[in-house]
Amino acid sequence: MRVDGIAPNFIKSVYKASAALYRTEPWKRLRPAHLFGVRVGKDSDWSGKKQPFPCVQFIGGDGGDVGFYMFRSETDAKKMVGSRETIHVPNVELLRVTYEVEYLMFPSNRKMIKSLALEASGSDRFPVIDVARCTPSGDLRFRNPTIEELRFVYAFMKAISLVHSLLQVDRESGPKYSTVVCFEPFIETVDVQWPPDVAKGGYDLVAVTVSHPPGQAYEERSSSASAGSTPTKYVEPPREDTFNDTKAYSGTGLRQCAMCEKEVHGEQSLCCGRCRAVVYCSSICQKQHWNDTHKSMCGLYKAMMEREEELAIMIFLFPCSADQPCKWLESLGIHQKGMWRRKCSCYSHCPFGLLPVKGGLQELWGGIDEFEYPHDSPFNNHFISGPFLLSGWSEYYNLRSLPLSSPVADILSHPLTVYHILTTLNISSKNLILKGKEVIVHYLGPEGELDWMPAFAEVGHLLNGLGNVQIVMVGPEVPTNLSGTTSGIGSRVRVNLVRGVYQVEASYLPSPHVVIALNSRLDSYSSWGGAIDLIKSLGVPAFFTDQSEVSCVNAKQVLRNAGLHITHPVTPNPFRSPVKNLTASYNLPSYSNGFVFGVNT
Ligand SMILES: [Zn+2]
Ligand SMILES: [Zn+2]
Ligand SMILES: [Zn+2]
Repeated sequence: MRVDGIAPNFIKSVYKASAALYRTEPWKRLRPAHLFGVRVGKDSDWSGKKQPFPCVQFIGGDGGDVGFYMFRSETDAKKMVGSRETIHVPNVELLRVTYEVEYLMFPSNRKMIKSLALEASGSDRFPVIDVARCTPSGDLRFRNPTIEELRFVYAFMKAISLVHSLLQVDRESGPKYSTVVCFEPFIETVDVQWPPDVAKGGYDLVAVTVSHPPGQAYEERSSSASAGSTPTKYVEPPREDTFNDTKAYSGTGLRQCAMCEKEVHGEQSLCCGRCRAVVYCSSICQKQHWNDTHKSMCGLYKAMMEREEELAIMIFLFPCSADQPCKWLESLGIHQKGMWRRKCSCYSHCPFGLLPVKGGLQELWGGIDEFEYPHDSPFNNHFISGPFLLSGWSEYYNLRSLPLSSPVADILSHPLTVYHILTTLNISSKNLILKGKEVIVHYLGPEGELDWMPAFAEVGHLLNGLGNVQIVMVGPEVPTNLSGTTSGIGSRVRVNLVRGVYQVEASYLPSPHVVIALNSRLDSYSSWGGAIDLIKSLGVPAFFTDQSEVSCVNAKQVLRNAGLHITHPVTPNPFRSPVKNLTASYNLPSYSNGFVFGVNT
């Protein structure tokens, strides 16, 4: 590839991105038969022009070349793609990124690699980027990509290396004898940062949407929450006669009309007949709400409601719906007991962190059976040394030999989400732990957690003899008399409590390796502003959880507006509480720590 007219630094950035993509080894899962759609930025960024190569195929993985091809259109791709390889079709042009061994490269390529000190993939293979066209006589013609095409492929590479591992295998479909895994339809938008020398008009961020398959699924699901960065017209408004009220909810709990905010009994409430997500007191309010705002949101909510089944964690044997928290706790015999006192509002008069403690661990766990809660003791597993890497609750319960009837996951969601972030989602803290070092976490805005310290001891046990974690909990809810205290809640975990506003206190704290805010409600607290600015200037990885997809969509917007880019896309958190919340005016799936996303990761 010649570099005339293109800043060498940009070529370097492109190579860096392709080398990083190589190291994620997409070929292990993505086969020639899987086509992906890619969309970079908004339509207005392209003003009349078509996106250069919006359809992608990964090749290789069976030995031979590895790389990917980008096509001008899905039609082109379909012409050329067989289930195992790519067939050459005359006059179809494709952008190729292939990884080649240095000694097999053209001398000019080798020279460029040397002169620009370009990055190898990690295995002595270098990315080669070109545009190829098959002539009617069957041979291939190559040309160098244009700057626009390079920008496009750059954005795609950054995005796909983040999102491809999130593809879920579709267990239902696909012939069983096929070696090609089928994936569930997928669409995700992530923010990608342009290298400084190609940022356009001061914008250093671009939203990249990757979809699988391209085309239909893309259109259909672009209304889903995960495509939140690109404002979409979600649905055609229905004709007046097609929308109807439906009984919202058969329970007896109090709901609240989303329009007039009047309280309404569960059995008398109505909901939108299309999405079933929004609660009303009357059809007058429903029609009003539809015309005011709901019209543009209904399709989005409908898509979110459809994820309900996927989000429900079906393994547990206790009731997983807390329509009325007091009743839910009562049914388990733990109402107003131990740490569970923070799970309903009965103790809201008592400041966070100051619930009176009496008795031992069993009392703290509400007096449930001896074998139903994790003891403050190491794991009895002599086969693994070093931190346990857990995929979700069933693995954890298994490891601790807890019965699936034990509701402790509802409280352990907080410490285990922290542990999951430190050991699975965030590479730098994982590496520190694996080297036996200490990870410092700034944990923002603790509330009920302040009364759940015994549960955080589990973080230390899961480290299983390697590494240390220091959690600095900072927030206005830390009670004055606890501020400045350190509790060693295990030999490997220390929690420091600091009362105050994060951006004010931060300069007095040890600098963090990672910032975590659970159930952050970023969109609803204006006080987050200063903290977000600080996270931006610190540049350290920060992870957030939120209860519902709607709050995540809003939170992403808040972060974007602050100039941060979402580098860990919104994904369901495997350590979300299995207990579904019911909010007063919405039926949308909502779980404590339901979804996780991150910036600067
Ligand atoms: Zn109303
Ligand atoms: Zn609706
Ligand atoms: Zn209660």
